[in-house]
Amino acid sequence: MTKPISRREFFKRSSRLAAAAGFGGYNVFHTGCRTKKGAYLIIKGGTLIDGNGGPPVKDTVILIKNQTIKSVGKVGQIKTPLFAKTINAKAKYIIPGLIDMHVHFVDPLFCEQFLFYGVTTVRDVGNNTNDIVNLRDKINKGEISGPTIFTSGYLINNQRIPFGASRYTAVVKTPAQARRVVQILAQKKVDWIKIYITLPPKLTRIIIQEAKKYNLPVAGHLRRVNAEKAAKWGIKTLEHTTGISEALLGDEQFEDAPPLWTISNKTWLHVDREKYNALIDLLVKKDVYITGNLTLYHSMASTPEELQKDLPEKLIPQFYLDGWKNYLNGRFLELTQDRESWKITEKKVAEFLILFKERGGKVIAGTDSPWPYLFPGHSLHEELQLLVTAGFSPMEALLAATRYSAEALGQTHNLGTLETGKAANLIILNGNPLKDINQTLNINTVVKNGKIIPRKLY
Ligand SMILES: [Zn+2]
Repeated sequence: MTKPISRREFFKRSSRLAAAAGFGGYNVFHTGCRTKKGAYLIIKGGTLIDGNGGPPVKDTVILIKNQTIKSVGKVGQIKTPLFAKTINAKAKYIIPGLIDMHVHFVDPLFCEQFLFYGVTTVRDVGNNTNDIVNLRDKINKGEISGPTIFTSGYLINNQRIPFGASRYTAVVKTPAQARRVVQILAQKKVDWIKIYITLPPKLTRIIIQEAKKYNLPVAGHLRRVNAEKAAKWGIKTLEHTTGISEALLGDEQFEDAPPLWTISNKTWLHVDREKYNALIDLLVKKDVYITGNLTLYHSMASTPEELQKDLPEKLIPQFYLDGWKNYLNGRFLELTQDRESWKITEKKVAEFLILFKERGGKVIAGTDSPWPYLFPGHSLHEELQLLVTAGFSPMEALLAATRYSAEALGQTHNLGTLETGKAANLIILNGNPLKDINQTLNINTVVKNGKIIPRKLY
């Protein structure tokens, strides 16, 4: 059993990693553990769930060279080098490394936390641009061990938000500023553009158009612009299933949306199921992905005590738990206290995602970690569980966190599935996740870029 980590030890470790990552302008030192040149890793005998959605394949061999999968096949059909590190995966199950499509990577310590839980790729949608781009590049160069990061840097809004995320907000008020902010973010080499709640339609449209010039896909936590309009203008992902209830109700009433963060809990209460299909068909036609984010709705619909019950407390520092509780009982009390509305909302959002999926839509897995009780890495497994509870098959839930997310990222050539030529990011599980989705947490080994991640946190 891991001992709970003290606050002092935690911050010591966190600031050491922050220094290594260059957060806050520190100099860089090397913490990397690069795989040796020409190093092979063989994973033998396991049942492969490759992330493409097909039936699992028993008795497989995966041959990894350096960071890449060199070949995959049945035992006996793949030639393997004589002297190579070999993992015996008999009676085990192998899935692709998981992708969390909605995080805020505000502490470099998350590197260890995400990898520990098999989350080998994340999309960061709101952060200090320089810090996160710096960390992303250092991980890509192998200087720091962490998940592969895709990031928007600052999120774009037309006013400051009255809580922590204001530090990660670029405020734009005019069309010229809207264009300029996209240009600056593109120069800083972000991978995405993220637009936020109070951005009015005119500026939203300009930003999506400008982003197209730089080949930057746009993610939206929408409110004043509904999903129908955003889809027609070319948005790529809808965060937390936002913009949908607004589209179903008509967005005129949201022109004066409050600046406080909201995921439109009240609006979902009034939507009419009969209108779902037309909107879904448009979103599918426009190739829009939905970050369902059931974990976030679930966290709103639950008490801190209920949420804490489901967490591996020993692995989560006590001051995290205390901080989260204070947060929800303090400044967010007004938002979260109406739990009955949130319960209905969680159900309605889940119903919508099922219908979306059944009509050909692609749901992707995202958590909004480190939102209270959504611990980096662990929360993605909770998202998979909630998708299955909602009515997704375990395979469909896995697709949301593997191939579909890689598609939304434009990374299917490298990520999301276990095939020859792709990044060697995988999880070896002790149990079958297709029988019981909880088995994704029953982790035996995590491999990121061909490197075995230690089975310990901190
Ligand atoms: Zn977020």
